[in-house]
Amino acid sequence: MRLLLLAPPGAGKGTQGERLAAWSGARHIAAGDLLRAEARAGGPLGREIAACQARGDLVPDQVVLDVLIPAVVEAAAAGGYILDGFPRTLPQAIAAAELGARLGVTLRAAVYLHAPEEVLTQRLLDRAGEGGRADDTAGVIRHRLRVYAETTGPLVPYYEERGILIAVDADQPPDSVTADIQAGLSGL
Ligand code: ADP
Repeated sequence: MRLLLLAPPGAGKGTQGERLAAWSGARHIAAGDLLRAEARAGGPLGREIAACQARGDLVPDQVVLDVLIPAVVEAAAAGGYILDGFPRTLPQAIAAAELGARLGVTLRAAVYLHAPEEVLTQRLLDRAGEGGRADDTAGVIRHRLRVYAETTGPLVPYYEERGILIAVDADQPPDSVTADIQAGLSGL
């Protein structure tokens, strides 16, 4: 299985990524988690990543590619990947497609999880209340949703044009979202 999850913050990329990995045997690669680990490791690069994440801005493409590509290559060799949060910009998508073509491990599907903005915001605020992430504050959430709409949203037509987009309503219980993704994959 080689799949990516394309979704705004709060849509359930992490939850669905884990479930799809368990179901398919492919490796779940969460871009945000890998970047947070890099941030915790410190150093100039770690500090740059931490600052971007704290503001809710995207980490620069080259940094993301340096961190993510080795993980994707390794997962592809080990039987597949579920990409969660990568690619998130057009240059990242182009770099990932070039790499996939070169290695013969191109994407099979891009799963687009969508939900109304109020639902996404409420979920993230609930997560913050449960002792979640430092970037789950009202102001940073608003900024992350805007960054998503401006920079990541354009990847929806990009994958649609390539005939691999599966759009799924994420404003449903997790089991229903997983079932819709599985149904979409079998129809692709
Ligand atoms: P969410 O989707 O809820 O924002 P993530 O854990 O996927 O959560 O991402 C958190 C942060 O990590 C983003 O706000 C951004 O700073 C950084 N990040 C994650 N993936 C990418 C990416 N592909 N490109 C640039 N920055 C990223």
